[in-house]
Amino acid sequence: MIKEYKKIYKEILKKIEEYQTIVVYRHQSPDFDASGTQNGLATWLKDSFPNKEIITLGKDFYDFTPSLYPHIDEVDVSNKKFLAIIVDTGNSERIDNDSFKKADFKIKFDHHPAVEDYADIAIVNEHLASCSELVLDFVSAFEKKYPLSPLAAKYFYAGIVGDSGRFLYSDVNSHTFEMALICINKGIDINNDVYLPMYEKNISNLTVTKYILNHYTLSSKGVAYYALTQKDLDELNIRCDQAKNFMSIFSNIKGINIWVSISENTEKNEFRVSIRSKKIAIDGVATQFGGGGHAQASGAKLKTLDELPNLIAALDNLVK
Ligand code: AMP
Repeated sequence: MIKEYKKIYKEILKKIEEYQTIVVYRHQSPDFDASGTQNGLATWLKDSFPNKEIITLGKDFYDFTPSLYPHIDEVDVSNKKFLAIIVDTGNSERIDNDSFKKADFKIKFDHHPAVEDYADIAIVNEHLASCSELVLDFVSAFEKKYPLSPLAAKYFYAGIVGDSGRFLYSDVNSHTFEMALICINKGIDINNDVYLPMYEKNISNLTVTKYILNHYTLSSKGVAYYALTQKDLDELNIRCDQAKNFMSIFSNIKGINIWVSISENTEKNEFRVSIRSKKIAIDGVATQFGGGGHAQASGAKLKTLDELPNLIAALDNLVK
């Protein structure tokens, strides 16, 4: 357990014990960590407090429901008195489902830079590779009284693996492995229950990869990027939120420092941007372009592709 949190963990547990209804939220466009933390915590709450009403809200994590995660609940909480626990979300605008505003009390667990203080109690630790690592640290502090089930461990493990890039990123340390070990010791089948649903691809993915390799641009400073318009997405038969799933092809290439996926979101009339880097901190530029995130993995938005040269120039400027 992270010792400095001992007191605040007790305060949070007291709040959990106090409320009959608890709603667990996470950010929009969820990833493995957001959904892993949400479901890991909700499962632990259900196991530990079977008489309480535990609800998850937001939109389903499309590609991984129900293969990895259960469907999100469809419950109207507007007339309920409830505790909201919001995980993996730095700013209130990104919380999936506005009903959190109606909560009687709000608790935030996060590992993004602390850009907004929207909760009554917050634990924010941007040095942890995943939010699952933080929330698992919290729940395992009460292991004797409220043990972690293998199902909850599976969700947390997926979150740890997802946001640490399979234990690759720079924030990975002994604590990350300690938390992974807690999950593995619960007897989860990491190959069949976690890695297979997370990483198995279809043959059609090769077509998209081929298209990206044929159409990406590499700036003189080593910023690789590809932009997919709605027409491209239709032709490739993928949704705009799936475009970033192909970025990892650029991750271990000498000479590529930063890589960017841009995809049209016609629903919001904007372009989604995902930015990754080997070492350089890109979150400042992401914030400049309407987003945010972590030093090596951030998201942003462009109104039109006319803004793309400015984004690439800003990223080029980061490269020494
Ligand atoms: P993505 O590229 O969507 O996988 O996001 C990478 C990281 O940046 C995640 O930690 C996201 O939570 C964060 N992020 C993505 N988009 C935004 C945004 N518009 N505002 C703040 N953070 C974001």
